[in-house]
Amino acid sequence: MQKVEGGSAAVRADHLHKVLEVRFLTEDAYLIRCERGSLQFKAGQCVNLGFPGAGVNREYSIYSGEDALHLDFLIKEVKGGIVSVQLKSMKPGDHVEIHGCYGDFRIKNPEHDGRPHLFIGTGTGIAPFHAFVQSYPGLDYKVVHGIRFARETYDRQDYAADRYASCVSREDGGDFRGRLTDYLKKNPAAKDSICYLCGNRAMISETYELLRSQGVPSDNILSEAFF
Ligand SMILES: Cc1cc2nc3c(=O)[nH]c(=O)nc-3n(C[C@H](O)[C@H](O)[C@H](O)COP(=O)(O)OP(=O)(O)OC[C@H]3O[C@@H](n4cnc5c(N)ncnc54)[C@H](O)[C@@H]3O)c2cc1C
Repeated sequence: MQKVEGGSAAVRADHLHKVLEVRFLTEDAYLIRCERGSLQFKAGQCVNLGFPGAGVNREYSIYSGEDALHLDFLIKEVKGGIVSVQLKSMKPGDHVEIHGCYGDFRIKNPEHDGRPHLFIGTGTGIAPFHAFVQSYPGLDYKVVHGIRFARETYDRQDYAADRYASCVSREDGGDFRGRLTDYLKKNPAAKDSICYLCGNRAMISETYELLRSQGVPSDNILSEAFF
């Protein structure tokens, strides 16, 4: 079996994926693209990703679609963090170590579900929604994206213009000035929406309560906490 030395331990070749590109979308968020190998996944799932053999990895949602030839991840560099800082310095030709995929943050019957889908995320919490939209182009969806600065819309061109709303908290220049919960108060969710929440726990719990108060049943609210 082929093994590649990375950090302290040798890693099985089927867990190693060659890095093809690292592209910075803002000063602290980057997209890392790597070879897919034989990895099969459903949009919304995540993997454990890390520097080969380092023995430290973190969960990252897959950003690319189910049928894409490569795997993409959208990662925010966390100041003082271990893995998000290590991965940032990857170069094409390097390898990352991937285990997985995992998770139930998925759309069960995307081809047969005509209900409105509301994707609510902060920062890189938009990653699983990007995978949904890439994988299921027929979906009735709206992305509500909470960010601090207008430049953090990442790949907004990948969403239909009328299906993406940025909620920018710290400056003008987005589709909405304020937090995403303020946007949702002014633009309440349809009661039959299937709502997906992704990002930090505080946003998820505040948004959950808000959606419940707007009449969305708890069974129709799914969440994925990043931190
Ligand atoms: C299911 C799941 C999917 C995830 N998918 C993604 C993804 O697609 N993209 C992505 O960028 N991250 C994602 N994360 C977060 C990721 O796993 C790491 O926690 C993050 O990259 C920090 O790892 P680190 O080793 O650099 O920092 P660490 O050394 O682990 O810790 C740094 C500290 O920063 C906090 N922290 C973690 N993430 C953030 C953040 N975004 N902003 C501010 N503080 C944070 C942690 O709680 C911790 O206290 C996901 C987490 C989970 C549980």
